[in-house]
Amino acid sequence: MWTSLSSTGKAGSSPVPNELARILILGGTAEARMLAERLEGNPRFSPLTSLAGVTLKPSRIAGEVRTGGFGGPTGLANFLREESIALMVDATHPFAAQISANAVQASARSGIPSLRLERSEWEEQKDDDWVRVNDIEAAARAIPSNALALVTVGRQEVEPFFAREDIHVLARMIEPPDTNVPDGAGIILARPPFSLDEERALLEEKNVSVLVSKNSGGAATYAKIEAAREMKLPVIMIARPGKPEAVTVSSVEEMIALIEKTLD
Ligand code: NAP
Repeated sequence: MWTSLSSTGKAGSSPVPNELARILILGGTAEARMLAERLEGNPRFSPLTSLAGVTLKPSRIAGEVRTGGFGGPTGLANFLREESIALMVDATHPFAAQISANAVQASARSGIPSLRLERSEWEEQKDDDWVRVNDIEAAARAIPSNALALVTVGRQEVEPFFAREDIHVLARMIEPPDTNVPDGAGIILARPPFSLDEERALLEEKNVSVLVSKNSGGAATYAKIEAAREMKLPVIMIARPGKPEAVTVSSVEEMIALIEKTLD
């Protein structure tokens, strides 16, 4: 039997031989993209990456790609069975809590193993000045009046910052927000990675007085934290949401070894 998926998740024409183990990668991160590339180049595996569809123009991904929600844990469990998935890797962003919870439940319901690939958190360094908060709303409240805040939380969660009329907001994101941008707020459209030179220049040029960041971890967006440290700027650091327990590794290399071991 040969199976394949088009970008809409429907049966398509490019065939995949069934002796390859089909790996569903829940994606939307650089790690997910790197994993797909490595699995596509491995004669044992056939990667299928799933994207939520939040980013309109995602970067190129090796192997098959499908887009859109599954319909909760039940929909995901059905998908795993119907598409003969051998193993699922949750390589979503550390702040994507719902899909990770769904993955754990769908794996339990279907009996198909699920592993998590999640980059390590950033740790506060000696010269950092972090104000730790638990969520987006608390981050928006923590910005001092009259501050110029560089807000780097993604386009879906900028609204609580725009609602503060006593601060100046400069929001950086990959694609424009769906919400109205108030007069006086600035938007920077840019895709990571960012270098330390770029981040230093941005903070200086715009006269930023506070940085707002999720504790996303990883190298691609860490330079802003380093630049803030150098310039002695406070960072409002949003803690990661809780996720249900799962077998977790933090690098693509470890994940490939774990997949091989799990499917042996
Ligand atoms: P979320 O709140 O955990 O998930 C909301 C719903 O979106 C899920 O229940 C699921 O719908 C669907 N979904 C999420 N990821 C999916 C995927 N990879 N494939 C298919 N459906 C998916 O997710 P989120 O925080 O909105 O993030 C959405 C995507 O953006 C994730 O894939 C994540 O990796 C990426 N991302 C998120 C952030 C962030 O800060 N949250 C940052 C960078 C990238 P159904 O229940 O219908 O299946």
